[in-house]
Parts: sequence; C-alpha cells; structure tokens
Amino acid sequence: MAAATNPANPTAPARPSILTVDDDPGVSRAVARDLRRHYGDRYRIVRAESGEQALDALREMKLRGDTVAVLLADYRMPQMSGLQFLEAAMDLYPQARRILLTAYADTGAAIEAINVVDLDYYLLKPWDPPEEKLYPVIDNQLESWRAVDYRPIQETKVVGHRWSARSSAVREFLARNQVPYRWYSSDTPEGARLLDAASVDARTLPLIVTPDGDPLVAPTDAELAARVGLSTQPSSDFYDLIVVGGGPAGLGAAVYGASEGLRTVLVEAIATGGQAGQSSRIENYLGFPDGVSGAQLTERARRQAVKFGAELITTRDVVALEANGAARTVRFADGAWIDGHTVILATGVSYRQLGAAGLDRLTGRGVYYGSALTEAANCAEQDVYIVGGANSAGQAAVYLARGARSVTILVRGKSLQESMSYYLIQQIGEIKNINVRTCTEVIEAHGEDHLERLTLRDSTTGEIEQVAAGWLFVFIGALPRTDWLDGMVVRDRRGFVVAGPDLTVDGQPVPGWDLDRQPFHLETSVPGVFVAGDARAESAKRVASAVGEGAMAVMLVHRYLEGL
Ligand SMILES: Cc1cc2nc3c(=O)[nH]c(=O)nc-3n(C[C@H](O)[C@H](O)[C@H](O)COP(=O)(O)OP(=O)(O)OC[C@H]3O[C@@H](n4cnc5c(N)ncnc54)[C@H](O)[C@@H]3O)c2cc1C
Repeated sequence: MAAATNPANPTAPARPSILTVDDDPGVSRAVARDLRRHYGDRYRIVRAESGEQALDALREMKLRGDTVAVLLADYRMPQMSGLQFLEAAMDLYPQARRILLTAYADTGAAIEAINVVDLDYYLLKPWDPPEEKLYPVIDNQLESWRAVDYRPIQETKVVGHRWSARSSAVREFLARNQVPYRWYSSDTPEGARLLDAASVDARTLPLIVTPDGDPLVAPTDAELAARVGLSTQPSSDFYDLIVVGGGPAGLGAAVYGASEGLRTVLVEAIATGGQAGQSSRIENYLGFPDGVSGAQLTERARRQAVKFGAELITTRDVVALEANGAARTVRFADGAWIDGHTVILATGVSYRQLGAAGLDRLTGRGVYYGSALTEAANCAEQDVYIVGGANSAGQAAVYLARGARSVTILVRGKSLQESMSYYLIQQIGEIKNINVRTCTEVIEAHGEDHLERLTLRDSTTGEIEQVAAGWLFVFIGALPRTDWLDGMVVRDRRGFVVAGPDLTVDGQPVPGWDLDRQPFHLETSVPGVFVAGDARAESAKRVASAVGEGAMAVMLVHRYLEGL
C-alpha cells in the first residue's frame, strides 16, 4: 500500500483520503497517478493491491481518526471481489462514497450491485481521458461526501460501556490529567466501528485509541499515562527536592522549588490537581472574585511548574520513605526509588467510603466518590442523590442541578449550617430542583449493572424508604493516606502528619529528634522531610492554605540546605 503524505506540513490534520484498490499493479498505479495529479493537494491518495490490504489500511485510518471520502474498487479481484471489499468497507466508513471499476463486459453485474452494496457509481475502464471520464465523476462524489460533513477526530478516543466501572475510571483519569478525549459508547454505531477496526471484543473494554491510532485494550493507569504523553519515569536518580503529591500544596512547592533553582521532581499517584482538581468551582481562592474551576486553577499551576523546570511524574505511587545518611529516599510501588536532599510530603487526603450494603459493587456504576464532573453529562434529566453536608457536597449539588431533573442532598445531621459555608447554603436555597433531606442516611444500594434504587432511613423516626435513584455521589469527609509513613514520621491518631512546634512537648522535641535545633515550622520528625497542605495535622483544609504551605515549605527547605 502506498500513501501520499504532506511533507510540507507533517503536523497538519490529515487530509481526507481517496482509496483505490486494484489487483493489477499497473492499473492500480495508473489510477493513483491520475487521482494524485488532480486531487493530491487536497486529498490523501491511498493505493492497495488487494481487498484485504485495503481493509487493513482502512482499519488503521479509522483508529487514527482519518476521514475517507471515496473508495474505488476493481470489480474483478481474486480472493475478495470489489463488491465484497466495498461491503466490508461500509462497516468502517459508512459515509465514504463507493465506486466500482468495471470492464464493459461486467456492466450488468455492476448495475445489480448498486442495490446490494448501495453503490454510488460504477466507472468503466479505461477512463481516458481522465478530464472527461474520471474527474467529473469523482468531483461529483466528493461534493456529495462533503455535504455530509464528516470531520476527522484527532484526539484520544475512549470506547467503553456506560455502566462499566473501568470505563468510567479511564475517563476520570484522562479528564483529571487534562488529556482531551472523545467518548464513544460501545453500543453506538461509531463505537462498534472502532471496536471492529481494532478487532476488540465488546467484553474487553474499554478500548483507548491514541491520536496516532494505537489501540490500547483495558490499560492500567500507568500504561495509559505513558501512551498519552504523560511522564511516568524520573529523568534522574537524585534531586534537591522531591515533592510527593500533586495537589495544590505539591504544585505550590514545585513552582516555588523550581523557580528558586532547586532540582525539583513532583511524584503524583494519579493526576496532578488533587482534590482541588475535582472541585467544580472554587469561590474563595484569592484573586478570583467570580470563582474558578479547580481543574483550570491546577492545570495552570501544573504548566507553571513545568515552565520553571520542575519534573512532573504521574501514576507513580510512593510507598516508602527512608533516611539514608544525608539522603532522603522515596520508593515507588514497583520497587524503583529516587534520592533527594529533601522531601515535601503533600499527599492530602482521600474520600472516606460509605459503609452501606451494595455500594462497593456499584461503585463506578452509578455510585461515585467525589468526581461529579465527568459523570455530570450522563445525569441530564435524571434524579441524582448526594451524600454529605460539607462544601464539596454543596458544590457538586449546584453543579449537577444545572442538568439533572432533581438533586437531593442527604445529610445525617439536623441541618447544613453546621458543616457548609453560608454562601453555598444560600445558593442551594435559591435553586428549585435541589432538595435537602436532613437526618437521613443511605443503608443499602440496589441494582444489577447500575444503581437503580436506594434504601434510606430517617434517623429521627427510624422510618425506612426505598427511592428510585440512578446516581449517587458521596462526599463524606476524608482521611490522610499516610499508612506508608507508619514508623517513619510522627502522625496523630487519625494519621495526619505532625510537624514543627506540634512535635514539641514541654519545649522538648519528640524522641529520636537528635539535632541541636528545634524542628522548623513544617518539618516532620525526620529532618529534611516537610509536610504541606491537608496531610498535615491541624491544617486548614483549604486550597489557599495548601498552596501557601507548599511555598513556605520550600523556604524552609532552603534553610535546611544551608545548615547541611
Ligand atoms: C469537591 C471538593 C471541593 C472543594 N472546594 C474547595 C473550595 O471551594 N475552597 C477551598 O479552599 N478548598 C476546597 N476544597 C478543599 C481543597 O481542595 C483541599 O484543601 C486541597 O486540595 C488540599 O490540597 P493538598 O495538595 O494538600 O492535597 P490534595 O488536593 O488532596 O492532593 C494530594 C495529592 O497527593 C496524591 N497522593 C496521595 N498519596 C500519594 C502517594 N503515596 N504517592 C504519590 N501521590 C500521592 C493524591 O493523588 C493527590 O493528587 C475542596 C475539596 C473537594 C474534594
């Protein structure tokens, strides 16, 4: 198969293709030559010498997101006839115009075929001169094709099932990492075409197709990250500063560390942005009087960190911290490690799980922890339930109420006043399709492939009720994920990392602290290891304070390095 490319501008979006297939190499070359002469500047001319070869080319093009305008196939080809080819090609490119090349003797068969494969034209060989016999026909077909306006999609494609937990997790992962993608449900015609092109069974979903057409079947986050251009490997084995966690605190530390000349690496388990990246609207961050989406804010911070030279590694879970002499070692789940002079722990918190029966099985299938954003479109005109009484639950309710038929906030307490900011309570009160049910808890979730019903209990009367519900978003507070630091740094009884003056009892630092000086403000019980943001004991649990602590921790890193 030969293809025309655009060497003048290789990065330009691919031109639509005209594909021609003929088993006679001489004829095949002649058709391609004539087509290229007249259409080569606007169309990519693809040539094949058998039906199978042409179908392979179409499958590749389908995965890449290329468009095909016209298919020209010779009627008489061994193995796969032109008609068989056009019929198979229809499954991949139903919009492409189909032309059969026939000899005069085969005209009758070609006319019959018009009904069988929905042929658009049959062209008699030889077509000389092309100006009279070929180009007017192709021009006509191209005009009809353009009328359907079938545009190419050159971004990552995700084909999955709406109710599949892994399909949902992949979308969430791509969205949080700011990777543009287009979603195709496997039960739509285009979804089925992509699965067919990649020869993937609908039982092994999701299928991810990268912009250059590579299919990936049910990949792990790390495989996905590497293929969509996210960095997953550190470039060095020693840094001045290792930041663990890529939320606001970690990003703040990376921006200040790198901009102040420290060789800085940030290691993130999932996607930069942290909890803030999942917030639909942050209203109280300084300098944004109209609010800002968490994804926008943290994406800017990510770009800023990269601009200053920080290295950002994603999908790497840090599982251990060691002090090896003056070096601080950070180990990854796969056994690899990096060393640094200093470490800033910025691992934040993650959602607590709701203990009701049936929820585990339906998580990702109608039940979601946080992350209301990527599922919002699916909730249009439906009844949505939210569990939680804090700001994150309130923000999600306001956001989801724009499209949902109704949003019901379920709160265990007697009112929202105890746990939610005043401005959000006011907003919620003004939105007609949001209801608040106080003193209510979820005790069971029901559904086969997807959430269908919830059993609720009124904690004042003990009354039990079942409600129809397709969507449940849970925001019930969070806990630090610091088990991996057990025995290494001092933590409080809930697992938050203790730092600075909080490490001192009666003016004396905790046992094991053997330096002459007191711990610096955000320094943990291990010298040179700092903590910033929500993971710190007694922290404010706000974006602004997390960013501020990240910046402050870098200032203390400098002070520590001066004393080395
Ligand atoms: C929905 C929602 C709405 C919110 N709205 C507001 C608001 O309007 N205003 C406000 O001020 N605050 C708001 N908050 C709170 C705010 O987002 C947090 O206080 C802030 O994100 C804390 O930042 P952080 O960097 O300390 O931690 P996080 O944002 O929790 O980030 C920690 C990061 O560390 C990563 N990580 C954890 N463990 C590891 C490990 N072992 N290895 C590698 N990486 C790891 C995590 O994957 C995560 O990305 C909201 C929170 C949520 C969930």
